[in-house]
Amino acid sequence: MDIKNVLVVGAGTMGAGIAQLCAQKGINAVITDISQELADKGKARIEKGLAKRVEKGKITEADKQAVISLISTAGDLSPAKEADIIIESAVEDLGIKEKIFAQLDKVARPEVILATNTTSLSISAMAGATGRPDKVVQMHFFNPPVIMQLVEIMPGKNTSSETLKAVEAFAIQLGKDPVVCKNEAPAGIVSRCLGQLLNEATWMVASGVADAEDIDKAMKLGANHPMGPLQLIDFIGLDVHRAKMQTLHTVLDDPRYQHPELIDKMINEGRLGRKAGKGFYDYEEGK
Ligand code: NAD
Repeated sequence: MDIKNVLVVGAGTMGAGIAQLCAQKGINAVITDISQELADKGKARIEKGLAKRVEKGKITEADKQAVISLISTAGDLSPAKEADIIIESAVEDLGIKEKIFAQLDKVARPEVILATNTTSLSISAMAGATGRPDKVVQMHFFNPPVIMQLVEIMPGKNTSSETLKAVEAFAIQLGKDPVVCKNEAPAGIVSRCLGQLLNEATWMVASGVADAEDIDKAMKLGANHPMGPLQLIDFIGLDVHRAKMQTLHTVLDDPRYQHPELIDKMINEGRLGRKAGKGFYDYEEGK
């Protein structure tokens, strides 16, 4: 694939980050959302982030302008006509994503790959909303997309091997180091492994095996993890972790993904993690 124009659907945290990544690699990126205003806000956040890097002397004003000049915005899906690949990164709701895929299928050229950045929704369901299920694939970026090296690539039931190869090559073009799953894999590799780790660490706190500090210290010093699992769950948000585990529990129909009751209790008490100022740890301003 010769990728010169990318359409990113959804101008939120991930969509804007993916568009920025494409532009930093010299690829034209259009960001679209449900309104022109939301798409523009996504681009404004990119500009603000780059301005901070200019202030810190990490990049020049010319570098910033070069990236910004490659990013444009739209309030509908009409730019799908010109796209060489489309990355859907709208809100995590299957009904909404199915509608987006059905619309994209009508507007995009027939050979164009439609990728989704979903966390754990069904690729096959999204593919089923199109007439090109062989060209629908999951391309799962990590937050923030410009920094994180990994892209997980997952097929749906009917994704072709050509599509998998093409998106793997595209991920490499974006400077990433991709992994490709062999079968449809809800939530990919990282979320499943990490989810179990975060549950286990929480169970250890709940059953009084050790304090949060010691569990984190043990995993940092004994397993060389850069961050302890309880620091990490605070960083992700207990509510976000629970939602992911509930999806895995339902989609994979496997009791191993049942989250500990302590997580429900802490969420009910407002201990959602870092964003709430308290979780397994208490956070003061900036700490
Ligand atoms: P977000 O809430 O920051 O952004 C979602 C955006 O989608 C919003 O701007 C919203 O207006 C837009 N949107 C809603 N309906 C739309 C529609 N019909 N058409 C176009 N845009 C629409 O969410 P996010 O964190 O950027 O997540 C986006 C996707 O990426 C989700 O599927 C999420 O599961 C996945 N994801 C998130 C992360 C993460 O760490 N946040 C990591 C990997 C994957």
